[in-house]
Amino acid sequence: MSEKEIGTKSEKLTAVKGMNDVLPPDSAAVEWLENRVRILMARYAYRNIRTPIVERTPLFVRGLGEVTDIVEKEMYSFEDRLNGDPLTLRPEATAGVVRAVVEHSMLYDGGKRLYYMGPMFRHERPQRGRYRQFDQIGAEALGFGGAEVDAELILLAVALWKDVGLTDVRLELNSLGQPQERLLHRQALIAHFELHADMLDEDARRRLYSNPLRILDTKNPAMQSVVESAPRPLDYLGEASLAHFNTLKSILDANGVAYTVNPRLVRGMDYYNLTVFEFTTDRLGSQGTVCAGGRYDYLVEQLGGKPAPAVGWALGVDRVLELIKEQGLGTVVEPLDAYAIVPDVLALPLVLQTLQSLRAVGVSVQMHTSSGEGMGSMKSQFKRADASGARHALIFGADEISRNLLTVKSLRDGSGAQVTKSLADIADWAPTLQSRT
Ligand code: ATP
Ligand code: MG
Repeated sequence: MSEKEIGTKSEKLTAVKGMNDVLPPDSAAVEWLENRVRILMARYAYRNIRTPIVERTPLFVRGLGEVTDIVEKEMYSFEDRLNGDPLTLRPEATAGVVRAVVEHSMLYDGGKRLYYMGPMFRHERPQRGRYRQFDQIGAEALGFGGAEVDAELILLAVALWKDVGLTDVRLELNSLGQPQERLLHRQALIAHFELHADMLDEDARRRLYSNPLRILDTKNPAMQSVVESAPRPLDYLGEASLAHFNTLKSILDANGVAYTVNPRLVRGMDYYNLTVFEFTTDRLGSQGTVCAGGRYDYLVEQLGGKPAPAVGWALGVDRVLELIKEQGLGTVVEPLDAYAIVPDVLALPLVLQTLQSLRAVGVSVQMHTSSGEGMGSMKSQFKRADASGARHALIFGADEISRNLLTVKSLRDGSGAQVTKSLADIADWAPTLQSRT
């Protein structure tokens, strides 16, 4: 690297544009959401899968399709410096999950329900709700062809919205049909757009023969009318595809899940067939899709596996968290149980030993730390204790510890009550420091 690129030694370095730090207390909200998801996934019998963040580039080119926004312009791709392998930071996780499922023959004894959480990378224009590194949580059910699994996944997402307190999320559904039906629809679509070629923008003209379905997804207002009048995938569904769609709808109806069928809904990746769906909200401006997914019955074989149907969704953690904040559902950070006040450095060995014992039985406690000039005045230590939000101060006074005692002062209930506890029977009184007793 050139000197200019490295910069001078003491110069401040900043994060890459569109890639954000998540700091406390915001990070607590992420952890909270992830914990809710883990509990819910277990209830629905979905198990965690962790795949690498870096995959071989052809996985995405083959998996997502060459003429897609992601593959055409959003991937962080590079060559392995040592052997020149083309590699890519994963822009989404479905392709990697399918790769892993195939590589480890995970479907040999039946279908698998899987979920993941983690960062994805897309070189997009950073804006509200759109970043270059962003977190997704996803659920994938592989080896299941029935519409009841599409329904299960949608019900799982609905349960998650309820669990984290989100109202205001709408469900849109569509069916793209099977390859044969998609082919007929595609021909009709091309014919329609050829007839109105003068109304197509540059993007649409480029995609007319390579990926005409994506034209339906255009956000260009000038093309709305030509898209409105275009043939719809739904009109090309055969009997079996219609039955699949109707079964899904009837299960959702029976479960009181509201939805609208949006005949123009297509998804950004090529791998979808039959069911596609999106959960959207008006509360996030133009980046309103919080969760999206659908069936991808042909991806497993396309990536070298024995043919197996599959369905899944992915949600944008950043957008869901923004919604949670927007609705004032901010999660409370658990306050500390205690703050240890240490008048004399000589007490430190005993203090650390005592705190180890307290933590071992579940008490959260922050220790006051020394500066160059010793532990600091009692006054300044109490100030720190207050600022920490802890509910109790543990005071390791020289006098007390010489008698194997410790003073516990209440900081939060306004009483300021002090009690003396014996260091010999910590396990007996430790639970009284905790909130959930
Ligand atoms: P969009 O139409 O918003 O670009 P997409 O079709 O590219 O979305 P998917 O690839 O299906 O989105 O990803 C699923 C979800 O992940 C999206 O609904 C969104 O919530 C989230 N997501 C996608 N791209 C980003 C991004 N760049 N920054 C933050 N969240 C994102
Ligand atoms: Mg996108």
